[in-house]
This record gives sequence, C-alpha cells and structure tokens, in this order.
Amino acid sequence: MSSVEELTEKIRQLELELSQERNKNVSRKKIEVLSSEVVDTNPYSRLMALKRMGIVDNYEKIRTLTVAVVGVGGVGSVTAEMLTRCGIGKLVLFDYDKVELANMNRLFFQPHQVGLSKVNAAARTLTTINPDVFVETNDYNITTVDHFENFMKAISTGSLTNGPVDLVLSCVDNFEARMAINTACNELNLKWFESGVSENAVSGHIQFIVPGESACFACAPPLVVASKIDEKTLKREGVCAASLPTTMGIVAGFLTQNALKFLLNFGSTSFYLGYNAMEDFFPSMVLRPNPNCDDRYCRQRQQEFQALPKEEIAVEAVEEAPVHEDNDWGISLIDETADVAEEDNVRGLCPGLRQAYVVPDAHAHENVVDASALSLEELMATMKTI
Ligand SMILES: [Zn+2]
Repeated sequence: MSSVEELTEKIRQLELELSQERNKNVSRKKIEVLSSEVVDTNPYSRLMALKRMGIVDNYEKIRTLTVAVVGVGGVGSVTAEMLTRCGIGKLVLFDYDKVELANMNRLFFQPHQVGLSKVNAAARTLTTINPDVFVETNDYNITTVDHFENFMKAISTGSLTNGPVDLVLSCVDNFEARMAINTACNELNLKWFESGVSENAVSGHIQFIVPGESACFACAPPLVVASKIDEKTLKREGVCAASLPTTMGIVAGFLTQNALKFLLNFGSTSFYLGYNAMEDFFPSMVLRPNPNCDDRYCRQRQQEFQALPKEEIAVEAVEEAPVHEDNDWGISLIDETADVAEEDNVRGLCPGLRQAYVVPDAHAHENVVDASALSLEELMATMKTI
C-alpha cells in the first residue's frame, strides 16, 4: 500500500471515529431531555391523541427509539419523513447516491437539492421538519467489504443509548443490498422489514423478518438468484425502471404503519403485505423460515426460536372471531379462490400468491443418484423410472 493510500485510509478512520464520538455526545444530551419533550406545547405531542383514544398505551416511548433506514430513495425518504413527523428519537440513514433531477417524479426531494448526497439532503429536510429527531447519516455503499463492517457497527451501536437500533427498514432497490442487510440482521439478531416496488411501478410489498421466527431474505430468494441470472441483465436496453410517487408512497405508508405497530405494540404486525395496483389487491400472509436456509445464522436463530417457551414468541397469530354469531338471513360468502393451484395451498401461500420456485434441499443427499458411478445406459434407465 502506498503512503498516500495509507494516509487516506487513516483520515477516513479518524473521520469515522470523530463522527461516532460526536453522535455519542449528542445521543447522551438527547436522552437527558427526552422525558420532558412530550407535552401539549410541543406540536408533535398531538400524536399523544392516539394514547388518549386508547390505540397505544405508550406513545411517548417513540422518543426513545432508533430506526435505521437503509436506502433513502423513493420509499426510504418518505418513510424517514413519516417517522420524523411521528417524533422518532433517532434515525440512522444509509445511502451513497446523489439527488438527481430524474428523482423528481417521487416524493420528498426537491430540485434545488440536485447534486447533494441523498443522506445529507434528507437530514437537512428532516431536521427542519422536526428538530427533536437526531439524524445520523452514513454516505457509503453497505455492500462493499469495508463498509459492511461499518454498517454492522452502526446498526449494533447506533441507538440513543449506544446499543443496537430498535428496527432496521430496508428501502433498497437491489438484491445485493438486501442480502447484506439480511446477513447483518441474522448475525446481530435484529428484526427488520424488507420493502420493494416492482420495476413496472404497479406492485409492491413489505415483509417483516424476525430472525428464526419468519422467513429471512435468503430462506426464499427471488427467482433471479436461483437460476443464477445476473440481476443487472434483467434490465432491458433503453428501458429504465418505471416509478410512481403513488406506489412508492403507499409502500412507504405500509412500511411505516407496520413499523409503528411493532415499535409501539398496537394492532397486529403484517409478516407479508403485498400491493397489486392494477387490481387493488392486498395479499397478506406469514412466511415461515426455511430449515435448509443457506444463512448459517438464520438456521441458528431458528433453533433458538424453537427452544423458546411459547409465551415469549414475539408475534402470535390472532384467531379472528366471527363478526356475527347468528345469521337470520342465511347470508354466506362464496369462495372465489377455487382456481388457486392446490399445490400452492399446500405450501401455505395465500390466494393470489405463488412461489417462483421451490428451494432445493441442499442438505439432503440420501436419494441423489451418484451419476459418476453409472454408465450412460444405466443413467437413462434410472431417468425412465423417475
Ligand atoms: Zn433464512
């Protein structure tokens, strides 16, 4: 390594340490004033009405909470704004892009911010909206080896009390970044939400990942990965991905609503909620983890979850009671889901959803024919019996 590179690396390290030290000091100051902030003279305490209405028990808890938002694009920026307006204690933002004029068909960013880094532009706007929220910015790509370490450190020590963040929200637009978040959260045992909007801008989803309890991102990777197709090759020449502020805003709303439900413990948090804009169809279901997941920490978390006593299970399925016990008019609902493939029902998918493929069981080799030990004729005979 040349001396210039060494110096640059040292400067980068010092800058990181300095910014972390600064954040720690601000965090300490912030925690001292938290308890007195939620008063009627504070405009944000209007959200206390939720408490008075009996929807949440502990609205003021939001002042103590830290949420990491990875990707401050069409979904992440709006999510960050919603959490800021709800008075979240601290936001830890990650992105390495700059604001572009082409982003202006989405919400949040403005033309005068073109050229600024997304995290810094977002931090300025968010601080103006609610100066009580502490916003930490991380202007780097979490998928590179060096920065993945920084990312792990930031989410494991980034809370207002220098502990792990309370929740990670993935608002990224590519597979590698999702896998990086998945790897980090499985290892650190952090709960996170994955979110996404399709390339054609007319569908989206959110998925709540509780390591060991629900499917992680590696448990059921999308088809593009299973067939080893490079994600980049899916983008058609001369056709850029579509985007709609509506779809992105709706997905950001779903994401923030479920984040709030989880953080403040009201309602039931969706494990998977889809949105099909063409039909206004919202499938919802629970995705269970894959015991043969490639991620070692996912398998470890699954064992830990299995060993938990039943009462400690974080999110339990709520049995829905019938709305009307008596039915004087004999009204009944006709099942219109008969055309759903039987095999998808067997796999526990809800109507309207299907698996792109079945993850092969990489750990079961008992029934595999050892092809190298057979002649071509023998192999063909074996094939015919399958
Ligand atoms: Zn997994």
